[in-house]
Amino acid sequence: MSEGSGTPPPARVAPYRLGYRYSRGGMVPCAACGQPFPQRRQRGQYCSDHCRNAAWQQRHESGTNRVRLAERRCAHCRRPFTPQRSTARYCSPRCRVMAWRIRQGAVGQ
Ligand SMILES: [Zn+2]
Ligand SMILES: [Zn+2]
Repeated sequence: MSEGSGTPPPARVAPYRLGYRYSRGGMVPCAACGQPFPQRRQRGQYCSDHCRNAAWQQRHESGTNRVRLAERRCAHCRRPFTPQRSTARYCSPRCRVMAWRIRQGAVGQ
């Protein structure tokens, strides 16, 4: 009687379908998209290769964008300075104006 031969065993539902919490049994949020996924034995932070690649690329690109421009000399006062833009030629707006004035002949030389 206790053996319910007529009833099928309860279907096994994947843990993540039951509102699984991160604290229980290796579910971790993906570092890229935030979706919880079962962590593998390997040290994985991402739910898929797609997320891993995207995150890696993002980090890689942001890293190269922050490379400081090489120091150069001001075209006017000849002092070395670190330009904010790759097209900067003068160490300061003042030098730029001065150089412009000289070019215009406003400053006698
Ligand atoms: Zn992901
Ligand atoms: Zn200058």
